[in-house]
Amino acid sequence: MKWIKDFFKTYLLLELVQGMALTGRYLFARKITVQFPEEKTPQSNRFRGLHALRRYPNGEERCIACKLCEAVCPALAITIDSEQREDGTRRTTRYDIDLSKCIFCGFCEESCPVDSIVETRIFEYHAEKRSELLYTKPMLLAIGDKNEEQIAADRAQDARYR
Ligand code: SF4
Ligand code: SF4
Repeated sequence: MKWIKDFFKTYLLLELVQGMALTGRYLFARKITVQFPEEKTPQSNRFRGLHALRRYPNGEERCIACKLCEAVCPALAITIDSEQREDGTRRTTRYDIDLSKCIFCGFCEESCPVDSIVETRIFEYHAEKRSELLYTKPMLLAIGDKNEEQIAADRAQDARYR
């Protein structure tokens, strides 16, 4: 009996008709293709993109050079040097993140006691050489300064769900 069924299935091009019906159904369905970069998909406030170092509103760096982020980083992507200032506070003299090693796990952000190192929503960046993926302290502070409003808003929103 099976061969009769298979014969008619082949003879009547049933599988082709089924395939065309499926194509026809999606021909008139709402299109979900996003025209990037003009259009963008929604982003979570917890998106883990490019890193930034933050400052307090008075301009002081948040980072106290505790090196927790350096210790917790599973990719060994963070390198910190520090020194004590004349006023007794400790600050970094070097804060590098090698983005060619980083796996964007967010551990550095989670470990920071002063909310200094954060991952922003920025994902549109590129490098043509590996050395361009080494983000230094001035670069990270500049990203933080430029995006502080969005960074603070994201953290405030996040705090409501904790
Ligand atoms: S996101 Fe993860 S891998 Fe990247 S620097 Fe932070 S701790 Fe390291
Ligand atoms: S960024 Fe945060 S965790 Fe890392 S050294 Fe500075 S204060 Fe410590």
